[in-house]
Order: sequence, then C-alpha cells, then structure tokens
Amino acid sequence: MPDSSQLAAPSVRTLAPYVPGKPIEELEREYGISDIIKLASNENPLGPGARARAAIAAASSEIGLYPDGGGFVLKQALARKYGWAIEGITLGNGSNDVLVMIAEAFLTPETEAVYSQYAFAVYPIAVQATGATARVAAAFPEQHPMALGHDLDAMAQLVNERTRVVFVANPNNPTGTWVESAPLKRFIAGLPATTLVVMDEAYIEYVDDPTFPDSSQWLNEFPNLIVTRTFSKAYGLAGLRVGYALASPAIAGMLNRVRQAFNVNSIALAAASAALDDSDHLQKSVALNLSGLKQLEEGVDQLGLRRYPSRGNFLLIDCARPAASVYESMLRQGVIVRPVGNYQLPSHLRITVGTPEQNRRMLDALRQAL
Ligand code: PMP
Repeated sequence: MPDSSQLAAPSVRTLAPYVPGKPIEELEREYGISDIIKLASNENPLGPGARARAAIAAASSEIGLYPDGGGFVLKQALARKYGWAIEGITLGNGSNDVLVMIAEAFLTPETEAVYSQYAFAVYPIAVQATGATARVAAAFPEQHPMALGHDLDAMAQLVNERTRVVFVANPNNPTGTWVESAPLKRFIAGLPATTLVVMDEAYIEYVDDPTFPDSSQWLNEFPNLIVTRTFSKAYGLAGLRVGYALASPAIAGMLNRVRQAFNVNSIALAAASAALDDSDHLQKSVALNLSGLKQLEEGVDQLGLRRYPSRGNFLLIDCARPAASVYESMLRQGVIVRPVGNYQLPSHLRITVGTPEQNRRMLDALRQAL
C-alpha cells in the first residue's frame, strides 16, 4: 500500500501540528468526571456581552444565506474605530486565519520569516507550510527581567534581504511577555522596506498601561506594518472565530487574493460588530482579568513557583518538575490548564485567568498536584 502522506509537500510532511487546549467534553469522556473548568485556551471567562449575544440570536435566522463576503458592516465599524481606510482592513476566521493569509501571500520557498523562540505556535506552522525558511531568534534568558520574551536585537540580526515577514506577538503567548514602545518602534524603523512586520496584538485589549505600544497608531508611518487583532480574547467570541488585520490597502489587497470567499460567517460578523459597541462588557472583562491575574500571581507566589511577567489573560509558571504529571493530576481534579512542552518548556504550565472562583479552584488543584 503506498503511503499517501508521502505525496504531501515536504514542508507539510515535516510540520508539527498545532496542539489545542483539551476540550471540556473530551475530559468528560476520558475521565468520566463533570464540573470541569477549562483555563487552557486564554478564553474570556465571561464569554460575550449581552449585545453580542442578542446579535447572535438575531443573526441566526439568516444562516440560510451566505454571509457578506466583504464583511462591510464590521469593516466599517473597525475603520471608524481606528480611523483607517476600509480598504486596509482584512477580516479573518480568527486572527489565525489572517496570519496564515499573510504567510500564503508573502512567503515562498525562496524567502524567510523571523520570529522569536517561544513565540506563538501558529507562526512556525504558517511559515513552514509555505516552504519558506524560518529564522528563530533566541529569546531573553531566564535571568533577564523579561525572561523568555522577544529579544528584538536578536531578531533584527536575523533579518536580511530575503526576509519577507517578521512576527512580533505583543504581548506574546505562551509567555505573557511584551516589548516596550521605544525599542519596538526602533526595531520596525530599522527593518528593510522589503520586510513586512506583523504586530500580533491578540491580547492588547487586556493591557492596562498607557505606555504600552499600540502599533495601530503607527500604520501611517510604516507602510510595511500589519497589525492583527482578534475578537477571541477580551471580546469573548473565541468560538465564533473573528479576527482582523490593519495594513496598507496594498497589503490588504494581496491578502484578499488568498482569502477564502466567505471566510467569516454571518453570525460572527454580526456578533463582532455588536461587541465593538459594548465598551461596558469590554471594561468588565479587562477589570476581571486584572484582578484575576493578581489572584493567580499571589497564589503561585505562595506555592513558591517561578512565574513570568504577563500582560495577557494568562500566566506562565515553572513547576520545577515535569509539568506533564502536574497537568495530569489537575485534569483528574477537573481543571484543564495548558502544558507547553511543544514550546520546549517541559516544566511549565500556562494558566488562563478565570473567574475568582475558577482561579481559587485552579490554585487548589495546583497545590494538590504539587
Ligand atoms: N495570536 C496569539 C498571540 C494568540 O495567542 C492567538 C490565540 N491563541 C491568536 C493569535 C489566534 O487567535 P484567534 O485565531 O482566535 O484570533
């Protein structure tokens, strides 16, 4: 029998697939337990707000029709929010979709992409699938104040005339680390005009710091800048899959060529538009996250475990022992967190901030597991 997998593109055959957080239903099935909490995929514990829920209910009567493939209403709302041309906005089935479109449109086997060690796991997949060469910059070492974070100087050193795309996650997942405004701006300004820089700001709504770089404000200055954001995190719409990119109309025009015709579904379009108008729910979600992050940090400190600085809705911790057994023990207690061995961090766990009660339960389960 011929092995059909051998027919795949070589760059795809050697790809390591994305490993998602364990779904609640899977744990129910496998362990026969109920009352499970999932703090494994950086979702908003509040889910969507009332306005998005109402929009979802209203839009569900229209699902016999294709969605607006241009996503006009949502794009118009985003254009207003950012003061950016509608022609420079690309919608995606989650921001993951946008990241893949960027890779498809701009990378070839002759070109290279740069990202940091411990950067979001979708970058290597998106890059490798195109046959392009990934150049991975060493992250800051353990003793650095921003341990495991992006070292922009190290990344800059890997950029050459073949580098078509550089990915910067700010804040980064799974580390929670971030880069400051001045060094980031210097880094972008120093890139050749032939290198696009993707600022992946999936978690930026959670950041409560006026000095934190909002790269959407630099779009006019840098024609090679692409800013990606999502409705999956602070807006609580992870299950609907909506994200977007802001870039020059020239870049957006290229992304539109590889975009699936109806990549964002009609319920998602309606919900995202409604969510943009619901600043109360966003504020509530951000406030809950800030207090929850503090709760997790204090709890982890009491357990004497190392933790990493985080500006996201999650915390990376070092269990100082193989994390797999800690993870397993927490699963048996009905608490799903995220092992990050796939990032070459075998003793670490990434824990999403939940409600105060979920955080307490997670900390209890972690204490038990240790
Ligand atoms: N970027 C980062 C840094 C992320 O952590 C995630 C989600 N895990 C994404 C992008 C993609 O999220 P989505 O496709 O749901 O927008």
